[in-house]
Amino acid sequence: MAQGKLFVISGPSGAGKGTICKEVLDAERNIRMSVSMTTRSPREGEVDKVHYHFVDRDSFEKLIGEDGFMEYANVYGNLYGTPRKNVLEWLEQGIDVILEIDVQGAMQVKRSYPEGVFIFILPPSIEELKNRIKGRGSETEESMARRLGTALQEIASIDQYDYRVINEDLETAINRVRAIITAEQCKLNGEEVERIVNRYKEEL
Ligand code: ADP
Ligand code: 5GP
Repeated sequence: MAQGKLFVISGPSGAGKGTICKEVLDAERNIRMSVSMTTRSPREGEVDKVHYHFVDRDSFEKLIGEDGFMEYANVYGNLYGTPRKNVLEWLEQGIDVILEIDVQGAMQVKRSYPEGVFIFILPPSIEELKNRIKGRGSETEESMARRLGTALQEIASIDQYDYRVINEDLETAINRVRAIITAEQCKLNGEEVERIVNRYKEEL
């Protein structure tokens, strides 16, 4: 069976990654999203084990010690990481996986899993980014400043990504991410060519 595809989605806080990923997951079959672990506190409405595995620093560091993360990073002062186990199992089973992670984490994944597909979500402007973070109502002034301060640094890493999607009109952005996923699912690689030819040969 063919391995699943790994899609890595990054972009500044407030660009709309979470919103886009949710819609993509609702619309696509055979694709799953990894639930990250974090030491950040839950926002109102966030559910443990659904949005994140919310843990304390000791538990997070314990899993680091057990080499349990595919990647992890300190983002805006908290630790975030992708538990390795589920992601690798799903890929093995031919299930596609989305990771919604920051640039530091994405670069770690790129080193260990270069066949991943790296997608960067951009806001239409910094002004709009500010409005979206404010509109979400989840950040303190300090956390908001920290997120905006990092935005430019993150955008400067865009050359490391395969695709970029500007999230101005939400519907258009969702369709573009879905189009990228579809195109990548149809992409041929050498191993697959052989399998396809053999499958038709067997039938003859
Ligand atoms: P991220 O996951 O990148 O931090 P979110 O998905 O939480 O960002 O989006 C930040 C805020 O912007 C949310 O309140 C969301 O509803 C809103 N949002 C997302 N996409 C758009 C869009 N295209 N136009 C207007 N608002 C949007
Ligand atoms: P938030 O606190 O807004 O949910 O997420 C803050 C940032 O952490 C976002 O850029 C998000 O993509 C990133 N993030 C979420 N989960 C992970 C993860 O598992 N690993 C890494 N490296 N970043 C993550």
